[in-house]
Amino acid sequence: MLPLTVLEEVSKKLVDFEGTGMSLIEMSHRDKIFDTIHNETVALMRDVYRVPDDFHIIFLQGGATFQFGMVPMAFLKKGESADFIVTGTWGKKAHADAAVVGMANAIWDGRDDGYTRIPAQHELKFNPDAAYVHMCSNETIAGIQWQYFPETGGIPIVADMSSDVLSRRIPWEKFGLVFAGTQKNLAPAGLAVVFIQKDFATRARTDLPAYLRYDLHIKENSLYNTPPTFVVWVMNLTLKWIQSIGGLQEIERLRDLKADMVYAAIDKSGGFYKTGIPKDSRSKMNIVWRMESEELEKKFVEEAAREGLDGLKGHRSVGGMRASVYNAMPVEGVKALVDFMAHFMKKNG
Ligand code: PMP
Repeated sequence: MLPLTVLEEVSKKLVDFEGTGMSLIEMSHRDKIFDTIHNETVALMRDVYRVPDDFHIIFLQGGATFQFGMVPMAFLKKGESADFIVTGTWGKKAHADAAVVGMANAIWDGRDDGYTRIPAQHELKFNPDAAYVHMCSNETIAGIQWQYFPETGGIPIVADMSSDVLSRRIPWEKFGLVFAGTQKNLAPAGLAVVFIQKDFATRARTDLPAYLRYDLHIKENSLYNTPPTFVVWVMNLTLKWIQSIGGLQEIERLRDLKADMVYAAIDKSGGFYKTGIPKDSRSKMNIVWRMESEELEKKFVEEAAREGLDGLKGHRSVGGMRASVYNAMPVEGVKALVDFMAHFMKKNG
């Protein structure tokens, strides 16, 4: 979901960008106009997400998935190993890709619990020589989210924050690299935003094909090849929208408000809506729950859709229901959902 004001501004300016007689998406990415937007977007990202000066911010194609392979290709050198904390589908995919490249140790795997919880610090035993520790801060499908970031004994963390990027302040000092696909909280699909700590960046291999070289993308300010200019433009507008409503602090307040509303509806339903996820692992972005039977779940999704509540079906790999409450979801949207949940329970409970 994108903020309505952003979509409206895009539609207003799409054909003729600010009186230039041309659409922004027709312009060269070397054009001064796009260059200004690009640099402003990086600056906005740094400001809104409070990214310290010792981090590079780059935009890369291939989404978050491409980073699953690109990170180990650059940072997992011969004879080295990396630690993986596998908390769900996305942690598993990142681990599998790294294992193709080198030694990827899954030091914790939530498989036995069906990926329904985040591990506690004491369950994590890091290899002191690991090149980095990979984690996924929010498992979009399982609906579980880290509410702390682990102490690794100084090993840089590589974090996939695709589905909770810009939804909270993060302790930047713990990270070597953070990446996030743009299509949840930032813009349409088409890019990953990659934040790389400057010292960590110097460890990246440079003897790789060009697109795999972080050093090259950093040096070329993400313009080594043609970027999807539309995605950068929409991200620019989304960042301005966050600023306009009060920044990250306001995003955090709204996020808590919205997530609490849905979890309260689940918790007070007396088991009609069920979540097996313990409170300290519950995602504030993707709220998942089940009902007594698949038949009832299907009915819920169908009737909700008729009320204009779209996309509540859980991911096909896990079933059940999922409400994704990304940044742009208005409180009224969540209110409509919890009202529907109460109404549906009354009729079917
Ligand atoms: N990581 C997470 C946490 C995700 O939610 C997703 C997509 N849903 C991905 C990675 C893959 O992202 P992409 O489709 O941009 O490659």
